[in-house]
Amino acid sequence: MHIGCHLSVSKGYLAMGREALRIGADTFSFFTRNPRGGGAKAFDREDIAALAELLEKEDFAPLVAHAPYTYNLCSDKEANRDFAERSMKEDLERLEDLRGNYYNFHPGNHMKQGSEVAVRIISDSLNRIMWPGMGTVVLLETMAGKGTEVGRSFEELASIIEKVSLKENIGVCLDTCHVYDAGYDIVLDLQGVLREFDRIIGLSYLKAVHLNDSKNPFASHRDRHEKIGQGYLGKDCFTEVINCPSLRDLPFILETPQEDNDGYRDEIAMLRAMSEK
Ligand code: FE
Ligand code: FE
Ligand code: ZN
Repeated sequence: MHIGCHLSVSKGYLAMGREALRIGADTFSFFTRNPRGGGAKAFDREDIAALAELLEKEDFAPLVAHAPYTYNLCSDKEANRDFAERSMKEDLERLEDLRGNYYNFHPGNHMKQGSEVAVRIISDSLNRIMWPGMGTVVLLETMAGKGTEVGRSFEELASIIEKVSLKENIGVCLDTCHVYDAGYDIVLDLQGVLREFDRIIGLSYLKAVHLNDSKNPFASHRDRHEKIGQGYLGKDCFTEVINCPSLRDLPFILETPQEDNDGYRDEIAMLRAMSEK
């Protein structure tokens, strides 16, 4: 089982790798720059190279970098679209020093332009951002459908993927809290939801899973994460998720509300104990 959590990049890249090892993780996620806006963290290629070495030596699974929430590729304002596109391109260029990992992003908010328009804007943008031979697979995250969020349905994600040229560099990250919130009942019928994912998107595009319980009931479109086993999804649902043959080899990333990384350490230990392999 490959599992980790979201880590802070504030002490650098190698420090994240060491912290992951300390808490029993063999993958993790991190923001490619300050999520509350601001510039990119001073880019230290030596530090990244040191992390790359550690990942190799300790046999990490692929990492799942996370684009800042401030990016909105399908904004109704040109300046915001341009900012998101430029920043994502830069993030992906930096990630060439860590080839072989994932870069997850929220497809965006269509701001009343409608999701069909947004899907076209997003895929056009991805086609300008991505390049043949790039070392990273870009992941669209399944969203809860809060406000005008795009990516609330498998159909929306499929129509973006369909229009992206470089199919080998695009995929999906399934967030358990978000899909349940969006109206896919993984508590009562995980297998049925995965069959639907396969029919509409294709399971080969599923590359990573965000493991989060939900503070809100089914289909509430609120997006509030809860600790594993303490929300509406419940422990049994996670036992099924982490042992499911189509999911169990993917990197699992925790984004649960924890006071500190020791909270994640305990949650990782609990999930490893729930894993059957
Ligand atoms: Fe996310
Ligand atoms: Fe998530
Ligand atoms: Zn969320």
